[in-house]
Amino acid sequence: PDQVEIARLEKQCATYEPPTLADGQTLQFSDMPLSRRTLGALKVAKYTEATEIQQKAIPLALKRRDILGAAKTGSGKTLGFLVPTLEMLYRARWTRVDGLGALIISPTRELAIQIFDVLRRIGGHHEFSAGLIIGGKEFEEEKQALYAMNILICTPGRLLQHMDQSPEFEYGNLKVLVLDEADRILDMGFKNTVNAILQNLPKDRLTWLFSATQTKSVGDLARLSLQDPEYVAVHEDA
Ligand code: ADP
Ligand code: MG
Repeated sequence: PDQVEIARLEKQCATYEPPTLADGQTLQFSDMPLSRRTLGALKVAKYTEATEIQQKAIPLALKRRDILGAAKTGSGKTLGFLVPTLEMLYRARWTRVDGLGALIISPTRELAIQIFDVLRRIGGHHEFSAGLIIGGKEFEEEKQALYAMNILICTPGRLLQHMDQSPEFEYGNLKVLVLDEADRILDMGFKNTVNAILQNLPKDRLTWLFSATQTKSVGDLARLSLQDPEYVAVHEDA
């Protein structure tokens, strides 16, 4: 990692306030304090303007705030958490030997694979390793992937199974936890599973919880998992 760039980003992110935009104006990723590696890959992937949820969530995440984000399907929540995930690990000078730095929990295999594909596209200029723990493979084979990975994208049941049955699985250094589609995770009956996962994880971490809807059970999960969160919502009529 580039020490000079990291020092600059730390300074910029600490005080960054997104500009107030006039109607029809949008914030570009290149206006945000992001690393050259992330910006370069976003550009190749043709992501230039941030969506509304990205404009609101990314600056707060870069400031190391916990986030409770609500925005409907299709609003761009994936980059809203993947961009800051990459930035957090980069700014922490994370390398392969540092182990698991970020854990992303998704309700289904299909959604986990979609997140992984986006991560591959926008994370390709970084040197982090990433893997999927979704139960599609043999347990033993999946287990091999656990040691090496800096970023894991998981379904709740399979993740807890590895926490319980793979003693080599180390997550004590974890810096970032993402709960994506939290409403669906709960609708699918994973409340106890997620609570057990939370019990296992270090408290000294960032947590970003995203949901399409804000239900009472999402609120309960937010209280269990987030510390002094910022609320970010994008409304239907936006
Ligand atoms: P959500 O998770 O909120 O349902 P996604 O993250 O899956 O939404 O994004 C929905 C679609 O919008 C995807 O096809 C994605 O590629 C596209 N998208 C996301 N962010 C941007 C952006 N900043 N610019 C252009 N397209 C984007
Ligand atoms: Mg999504």
